[in-house]
Amino acid sequence: MEAKMESDKLAPKVLVCVTVDWEGQDLLSLRDLEQVRERLGPEVPLTHFVCPNYFHMGLPGAAEQVARQIRGGDELALHLHCLRPLVEAAGLPFRDRPDFHDRPGFLLGEGWARRFPLLARWQSAKVSGRGVPLSAYAADEQLRLLEFGRASLRQHLGRTAEGFRAGGWMASDQTLACLAELGFRYDSSAVPPAVFSRGFESLERPGSLVDDHGDSNGLFTDYMLRLWGDAEQAEDFLANGWRLAASPGPIAPDAQPFRWSGVLEIPNNGAMSDFASVSGSLRPLFDKAQRFVAEQGRDFVVVLGMHQEGQVEMKLPLVHFFKTLDDADRGQVEFLTLAEVARRWGEKW
Ligand SMILES: [Zn+2]
Repeated sequence: MEAKMESDKLAPKVLVCVTVDWEGQDLLSLRDLEQVRERLGPEVPLTHFVCPNYFHMGLPGAAEQVARQIRGGDELALHLHCLRPLVEAAGLPFRDRPDFHDRPGFLLGEGWARRFPLLARWQSAKVSGRGVPLSAYAADEQLRLLEFGRASLRQHLGRTAEGFRAGGWMASDQTLACLAELGFRYDSSAVPPAVFSRGFESLERPGSLVDDHGDSNGLFTDYMLRLWGDAEQAEDFLANGWRLAASPGPIAPDAQPFRWSGVLEIPNNGAMSDFASVSGSLRPLFDKAQRFVAEQGRDFVVVLGMHQEGQVEMKLPLVHFFKTLDDADRGQVEFLTLAEVARRWGEKW
């Protein structure tokens, strides 16, 4: 019996990580998060990517409310959206562009902003910073924000984050260099462009590498296809030369962990539930994972996600995906945190 248990432990598995992105905006959806967690089951630990903005926006009891959701076996990691309170608490000047929530041409350029100061002030108030990529800040500012963010989590939640995911998945070459410099163990910002465009295709077909999905998210879709796609980008905030050197071509829907200049990248290959569907992306990824494990005799990592904030409907694809897992599926799965995947990566891959 003991020998069988030992061999089960060593047998290759589909390693499933469920991540929660905390956007740093509000704590109104915690009951939804608890209910989703109940549906997933007690054996599923969560990796919480938390943006520390909650602790700098004057929200009473924020630290206690967040801490209560990080349970035994869970992991705390860092997530950064460059919201104004957080940026200013870090001692940096707030930036309001580029913003991936805006449609091209919507923002006033510098010249127009000088000519129409009232309109410029309205624009600045409207733009919270949620959609301003961390990579839009200068390298030393990114370093400061990452260092400050990690220290803020430690101060308010009493734990040290080893992992990172950029707000809007926007980690550029500079962001990755900063993570390496600060000794982060892993990054999980890479996301398959196929989530946003069928031109980058699904698991079996290579795709045309041309966006044919239609732009449903404004600049956001454009940024995702450029940052995680097949072509090298020159603009600093989208620069992806490191990643292309380590993992040429677009991030594939079945991408596995890889190392780039001092940082382990664990791609968010199942994306966030907001952009995922059971039949279109989650179940095909899981089926592929099972085939890979059977044929190659090695572990396969599946990284799923949901947002803490937002309507519960956005979390449901994850719940529905878990309903498709029968006992046979679950027998081949190990649920774990990303830090645990990172630890094993050093030993096994
Ligand atoms: Zn986010």
